[in-house]
Amino acid sequence: MGAGRYDVIVVGARVAGAATAMLLARQGLRVLAVDRARFPSDTISSHQLQVPGAALLHQWGLLGKLTAAGTPPTRRVRFDAGGGLVMDGQFPAYDGVDAMYSPRRTLLDSILVEAAREAGAEVRENFRVTQLTASGNRITGITGSARGRPAVTETADLVIGADGKRSLVADAVGARRYRERPVRSFASYSYWTGVPVSGGEIYQRTGRAVAVFPTNGTRSGARTGPGGRWPGTPASSWTRSRRRA
Ligand SMILES: Cc1cc2nc3c(=O)[nH]c(=O)nc-3n(C[C@H](O)[C@H](O)[C@H](O)COP(=O)(O)OP(=O)(O)OC[C@H]3O[C@@H](n4cnc5c(N)ncnc54)[C@H](O)[C@@H]3O)c2cc1C
Repeated sequence: MGAGRYDVIVVGARVAGAATAMLLARQGLRVLAVDRARFPSDTISSHQLQVPGAALLHQWGLLGKLTAAGTPPTRRVRFDAGGGLVMDGQFPAYDGVDAMYSPRRTLLDSILVEAAREAGAEVRENFRVTQLTASGNRITGITGSARGRPAVTETADLVIGADGKRSLVADAVGARRYRERPVRSFASYSYWTGVPVSGGEIYQRTGRAVAVFPTNGTRSGARTGPGGRWPGTPASSWTRSRRRA
């Protein structure tokens, strides 16, 4: 490609950034991925890797690493909607994979970061990007620093923002916001051992839901509140409950 030190710089190196860095590096590009976090580390997410996501990991040769680290497959899900309505079934296979997985992000993100490095990408952890550099209306790179070190500038033909919900990259380029919604509910999750689950279980009642899925490390990750499209406790009643507590 062009004159930058790197072909591509990816800001953020979790599921989106590390996977992008890995795929581009596998194509032979010079890739730098940076993240202000260190890996393994956690982030807020309730872990469900749906079947198409698991199929991608399989395609990339990484699903075996997830299972070798003790992440059990979930082939069945039981959905109890209340009032005696229960749906119980198996996931249809997608690209040869017939299960979803619920790995902790400490594991999933680390597998992807390691795979990016194995593919030849340079991954800098503990590196916070503070601004993008530009020439005219073209982004040319990043400025940032590793913890306690002086700021450096790195250049690339393409800078990709995979830096999450409050993306510095999106702000810097004035990316249009869409589908914004006010906070309406909350979710919490915790880890339990000794819960006898055979697959995923979801229970929904008016205004709330709870789900249990097996994860690595301990037997189950249990979640209350909304996951995906399940309604959770409205934020207003959460605030009321906290005031009462
Ligand atoms: C409560 C909850 C439950 C969820 N449950 C699920 C689920 O079950 N299944 C599912 O598929 N999704 C779930 N999601 C969504 C999922 O967490 C996100 O879609 C996913 O984490 C986005 O990944 P990402 O790599 O784009 O960004 P992130 O995971 O947010 O990673 C962004 C990275 O960018 C880094 N970064 C940010 N700014 C900078 C900077 N200036 N310099 C350097 N690094 C920077 C951060 O350190 C971070 O590591 C859930 C989300 C929430 C909030």
